[in-house]
Amino acid sequence: MTESKATGLWEESQKASVAGVRKWICAQYDSQPLAYVRTYGCQQNVSDGEKIKGMLALMGYGFCETVEEADLIIFNTCAVRENAEDRVFGNVGALKHQKRRNPNLIIGLCGCMMQQEHIAERIKNSFPYVDLVFGPHSLPKLPELLEASLNTKKRIFDLSENNVGIIEGIPIRRDQEIRAWLPIMYGCNNFCTYCVVPYVRGRERSRRSEEILQEFKGLLQAGYKEVMLLGQNVNSYGKGLEEEINFSGLLRKLNAVEGEFRIRFMSSHPKDATLELIDTIAECEKVCKHFHLPVQCGSDRILKQMNRQYTRADYCRLVDYAREKMPDIAFTSDFIVGFPGETEEDFSQTLELLERVRFDSIFSFIYSKRKGTKAAEMEDFTSDEEKADRFQRMLDLQKQIGIEKYESCIGKRFRVLVEGPGRSGTNYLTGRNEAYMIIDFPGPLELVGQFVEVEITEALNWALRGELVLSQDKMGEKK
Ligand code: SAM
Ligand code: SF4
Repeated sequence: MTESKATGLWEESQKASVAGVRKWICAQYDSQPLAYVRTYGCQQNVSDGEKIKGMLALMGYGFCETVEEADLIIFNTCAVRENAEDRVFGNVGALKHQKRRNPNLIIGLCGCMMQQEHIAERIKNSFPYVDLVFGPHSLPKLPELLEASLNTKKRIFDLSENNVGIIEGIPIRRDQEIRAWLPIMYGCNNFCTYCVVPYVRGRERSRRSEEILQEFKGLLQAGYKEVMLLGQNVNSYGKGLEEEINFSGLLRKLNAVEGEFRIRFMSSHPKDATLELIDTIAECEKVCKHFHLPVQCGSDRILKQMNRQYTRADYCRLVDYAREKMPDIAFTSDFIVGFPGETEEDFSQTLELLERVRFDSIFSFIYSKRKGTKAAEMEDFTSDEEKADRFQRMLDLQKQIGIEKYESCIGKRFRVLVEGPGRSGTNYLTGRNEAYMIIDFPGPLELVGQFVEVEITEALNWALRGELVLSQDKMGEKK
């Protein structure tokens, strides 16, 4: 059951601490202190990073691009795979000398990795120069925690798991000007056996649709042209809310807002993806015809072990129905290679699925054992070499499919949202089509932030190249 907890207002609980930190800053510094915030991991984390920066800006901090310039360093960490954690430990280790040179430096670690007890213990014991540690549940309390750290000079660890429900009104300092992240829900109830997310981010809770709509309209007014709706499984949006609404209903509400913009969303769990949702994507002209639908693998036996609750046939039915409704819809996906017990036969079924669906692109990961998850207890008899070999075979096959897909785009015209200067040359711009493909084309910088039409002339390894056909004004005339 999705939790339904009261929505709280951030300002009410943190106002006094924001003032407290501002006062401390005025007494301590002659010029504005600088914060360095580094985020690891998924878009949800990037969105959390924007809230951290929003709160810090309100407390009086400016921002810098290097740790050397910083008065406050925050690493917003990811726990999904071991290599992400290793990188954090490496980077925190490197701060030891920095702290020695500048004892007034404050070092904070937050995010999913910190919500795990064994990690917090390791930080406590092996990294004594880290001042502040808190998990995702405590993120809204950053002013309170920072104030306590500054005033007491003691190390602060807050790993409370109080699942506070939803806190609205946290200030946000967005990193981009064209595409914005908009979380519609938090947490996860699915407990895929390999995944640590439900343990560190708590149970699913949805934001009320009026709060989402208000933020969405604010983004459009601020000039954003693309909004990415975020959740670990957006397809279960709305469960537990007082209002009767599901994800399709939310998409229709947002699609009905006036203006020229695009809506994207991620991630979707195939077990909760419905034909109603596919019909909604087909009928809503502002929702991109791009479905990121992580399948993880092509073997029913392994899907069961992963607790994914769908079969390969269920997945293919969704893909086929969507393609019947929208022949040009793009499919992208996530895959895990080398899950405990995966045999060569299981893996060959994954390769068959790649051939069957012909994804536009995929994110593939070698299985990483996560403490506390069910899969961590499963017997794993496949060697690292074998896993690396399977991983490479998967990349090779997808590369071939990707090249064929890209080449089939030559001669086609796409509506592209222009994002900035391109990598193809000095007078090139870059943007993405609905399928999220990168498209470079020559054009003036004034087109950044506009929708244009581009005809594809060339397929590169990493992108498409084309010629401008129509800019936004002319596209308006065409309609
Ligand atoms: N909630 C999203 C979903 O189910 O699609 C995904 C969230 S997770 C941050 C993103 C991807 O990381 C997953 O789809 C999965 O492929 C991968 N992943 C999660 N746990 C993993 C693990 N233990 N080892 C390797 N990859 C993992
Ligand atoms: Fe992890 Fe599965 Fe939840 Fe995605 S749906 S966050 S993979 S448990």
